[in-house]
Amino acid sequence: MTVPKVAVNRAPSTLPHVAIAGVGKVYDSPRGAVEALKDINLVLHQGEFVSLLGPSGCGKSTLLKIVAGLVSASTGEVRISGESLAGVPDGLGMVFQRDVLLDWRNILDNVLLAVEFKDLKRRDYEKRARDLLQLFGLAGYEHRYPWELSGGMRQRAAICRALLTGPELLLMDEPFGALDALTRDELNLELQRSWTAGNTVLFVTHSIPEAIFLSDRIVVMASRPGRIVEILGIDFTRPRELKLREEQTFSAYSRQIRQIFEAHGVLHRARE
Ligand code: ADP
Ligand code: MG
Repeated sequence: MTVPKVAVNRAPSTLPHVAIAGVGKVYDSPRGAVEALKDINLVLHQGEFVSLLGPSGCGKSTLLKIVAGLVSASTGEVRISGESLAGVPDGLGMVFQRDVLLDWRNILDNVLLAVEFKDLKRRDYEKRARDLLQLFGLAGYEHRYPWELSGGMRQRAAICRALLTGPELLLMDEPFGALDALTRDELNLELQRSWTAGNTVLFVTHSIPEAIFLSDRIVVMASRPGRIVEILGIDFTRPRELKLREEQTFSAYSRQIRQIFEAHGVLHRARE
């Protein structure tokens, strides 16, 4: 069998991979119904990196969980490669804000957990697991335990686990939200380096620079009800370097996004 290689360059195609059509979600809560999402329409193309950017409570996690088949939509549907979603789709990798490493397994065994879940042969994936750990700066930590590692290192291990079987679709919910700014920068670079060829990424963040730095397109969302207010293409070549953030074109994107948020009452313009 062939294990997918870690590739540096990937180009998004125009082939639809994930099609979200008319998706709405209403949660029943003791304080009444909450319209978490309203009429979400979005197509992710094969190999595209798309970020969901918006304030807390605008339904980002809900949308991600719907695409992961973990939460059902109240209206509309999600199709993955043309197939209507029924449960957790094949070829899915997920990373959450808080890593979910098992404390009683060492780092290598935590990364290889994905293989056990999928009933694959550990032998076929051990080299790739070690390669990924190396790529993410964790060579030498294979036999350490999660509690011996810093937050950034644990999150790196969680990403290696999600990438291990070469998922076609990678869903990430604020994976770097709990990390300090420098570690976050490093992980943004490592994530960019580590895309497996052809994989599509849906990435949740509420950091404007992080979304601009990483994305091919940014889906800007607002809340009450959770909705898409704008979809923005980010036209920078790859690989991108951190110094890109100092360029005027980068600031222009930030400004544009802040203006969208201001127009929708998410950000309030400071009084002069
Ligand atoms: P985000 O990830 O953008 O912060 P969420 O998707 O977590 O937003 O939540 C969107 C809205 O739905 C919020 O108002 C939240 O309180 C509500 N919500 C999320 N999950 C549930 C749930 N299981 N039951 C009731 N309300 C929920
Ligand atoms: Mg969330």
